[in-house]
Amino acid sequence: MITIVNLNPSIDKKYELSNIEKGKVIRARTVDNTAGGKGIHVANVATILGEDVLVTGFLGGKTGEFIEEKLNDHRIKNDFIKIQNPTRECLALITDDLTQTEILEPGPEVTEEEKAKFLKKYDELVQKSSIIVASGSTPKNISKDIYAKMICKASKVGKKFLLDTSGELLIKGIEAKPYLIKPNREELEMITGSYIVSEKDILMQIDKLNTIGIQCVIVSLGEEGSLVGYKGNKYRIQVPKIKAVNPVGSGDALVAGFAVGVKRGYSIKDTLILAAACGTANALEKETGFVRKEVVEKIIQEIKVDKI
Ligand code: ATP
Repeated sequence: MITIVNLNPSIDKKYELSNIEKGKVIRARTVDNTAGGKGIHVANVATILGEDVLVTGFLGGKTGEFIEEKLNDHRIKNDFIKIQNPTRECLALITDDLTQTEILEPGPEVTEEEKAKFLKKYDELVQKSSIIVASGSTPKNISKDIYAKMICKASKVGKKFLLDTSGELLIKGIEAKPYLIKPNREELEMITGSYIVSEKDILMQIDKLNTIGIQCVIVSLGEEGSLVGYKGNKYRIQVPKIKAVNPVGSGDALVAGFAVGVKRGYSIKDTLILAAACGTANALEKETGFVRKEVVEKIIQEIKVDKI
């Protein structure tokens, strides 16, 4: 089983409106509510690919109930810790000029007892899983070393931990040496404190991260594909040119494809191909964190992975 940790899920509310004017009443033409959070996107894509996954984290209030219902509707196995405070909502305002303005709530406070319950559940799930994925932010009063602690627990029992987060959570997580990290260019600059200009700069930083003990580093570069460091080798992934509809969540889809490839025992090359194809397939959809299996299968034929 693949366990996916999503500590700070949200109801993602997408509004379509003509324009945004400060201080005015704005009437939305449409509103669309979906279960959101980077881990939930990973779980959705891995489930679509036919893998046995379970998503966990914190859910509370009516918003939490909504997310649980949506996950069940999509047959995504879930086992969240129920908390007193309500799960957050995040708003995306899409105006006629097709720009997107986002308002992200910080997330609920979680009590010490709720945190302890989650960590107990995590220990149980680590035993049952071969791969653990943790994606995204955490509720506001969770300590920034939570992923680092979870990585140490997984590593002790030989389980692979894939970490896709940002900021302090990623910096502390790296210290615990997860199996994989997947920064984009911006996140790589943040964790290394260096300004990235060229491919050479990226490869140098990948090398440093591999050297400190992170086995697989994927730096995703949107339509330019990815650069990868794995067990002393470097790879360049090229993706086909597409007319992107919504690339948000492509990184999550890539992580899902990677986890599925590892779970199935694919070679590193085939794992990277599946991962990149999922990223590109997500960019072709309006829905965030969603792919069509037949589209992924078609794109797989068009991905190029070369050893550098
Ligand atoms: P998010 O945080 O929204 O999940 P990200 O910044 O982590 O995204 P990206 O680098 O944008 O991730 O995309 C991940 C992968 O998805 C890319 O490496 C590529 O394989 C694929 N991809 C993304 N955008 C495009 C695009 N416009 N055309 C083709 N492939 C794309």
